Amino acid sequence: MWALQRRDAMSVWQQFELKDRLVEYREIFQGKRIPRYKLARLFYVPIDEKKSQKDLLDIHEHYHTKFKTWLEEKQTVPLEDIEKEVFAKHKEEEIRKNNYLKLKVMITKDILSACEFCENRCKADRAGGKIGNCGVDGQAYISSAFVHMGEESPIVPSGTIFFYGCTFQCVFCQNHDISQEFAFERFKGKGHTPLDLAQMYYSLKSQGVRNINFVGGEPTPNLHLILESFLEAQVDLPMLWNSNMYLTETSMKILVDVFDIWLPDMKYSNNDCATKYSKASKYWEALQRNMKMIEERGSGEYIIRHLVMPNHTNCCSIPILNWVNENLKTPLVNIMGQYRPEYKVLRTEMYPEIKKKPTTSEMYNVRKHADDLGVYWKSVS
Ligand code: SF4
Repeated sequence: MWALQRRDAMSVWQQFELKDRLVEYREIFQGKRIPRYKLARLFYVPIDEKKSQKDLLDIHEHYHTKFKTWLEEKQTVPLEDIEKEVFAKHKEEEIRKNNYLKLKVMITKDILSACEFCENRCKADRAGGKIGNCGVDGQAYISSAFVHMGEESPIVPSGTIFFYGCTFQCVFCQNHDISQEFAFERFKGKGHTPLDLAQMYYSLKSQGVRNINFVGGEPTPNLHLILESFLEAQVDLPMLWNSNMYLTETSMKILVDVFDIWLPDMKYSNNDCATKYSKASKYWEALQRNMKMIEERGSGEYIIRHLVMPNHTNCCSIPILNWVNENLKTPLVNIMGQYRPEYKVLRTEMYPEIKKKPTTSEMYNVRKHADDLGVYWKSVS
């Protein structure tokens, strides 16, 4: 049925530029490759729970390269064959307690007591129930989970899970009711467990989705529980990280090799704009580093989202396209024209320069610049 609603979700795969950029993603939802999380939990890593966070991170770094090589060898081998091989060396029970994914879960749970998942680095004791700058404690609070038909054509239909809370405070947020203005006391303590999440993936899969799409608000504050849910999950679907990418380097290291595809937002190309509109003072450095990490340490498959804002084409849109063109190997950009004034921009007179939609000529100039550079955008915008 969905193919009638979004014919482009089928026809888009005839574009060779896109096919070549999203090989792993496509083969996972077609059942020809194993999602990364399933291999991460079969990859033996001896775990000593008494080790310090620093030691665990060193062990993670040591095994990252080994896992990368193993993943490349095994991702297209039938899962039963890999399990046979792995369980011949280590008992099933032993693997369950000692694996690469489990190590990641342990590290994130440790970080949670003085949280530094994102560059706000507010060090809130979320494990002890304290609330961070992102507005949530250590539990996962989900606003909705459904089959999304409005995403970019290669992603549709998408099993989208919206988390409450955000690591940004965007003054124009279109989802401010779940990112910033939710009444936390209403549901405090009634969060979703990793098993709830794993069951949601199963339910979304049974509705025919092509991926599990973690979004919000922002998924970053929930990365410990999302990873823990992967210890239980059974779905053969690509896992998609849909984010503002304001993660710390450590968070990125932990996430980057278990997610199959990325929807990174590239909003601003400088810290002045990021600070003024999103209170993200370390944005540009973090964004550049994290985008490179997707290519260097992860699947390298992504669709960048760039929302064109009025009066921000010269300071943000054009420099972002230039950076993407000069620094990334396989840029694929959704140049989005749907900005409209919302939330604080609409309610106050503090941001007159963005209290309007981008003009037709602004949109034209940004898209023309992408064409001039040869940055591929058409079939995902
Ligand atoms: S994820 Fe939340 S609690 Fe953790 S550092 Fe970021 S804002 Fe602070």
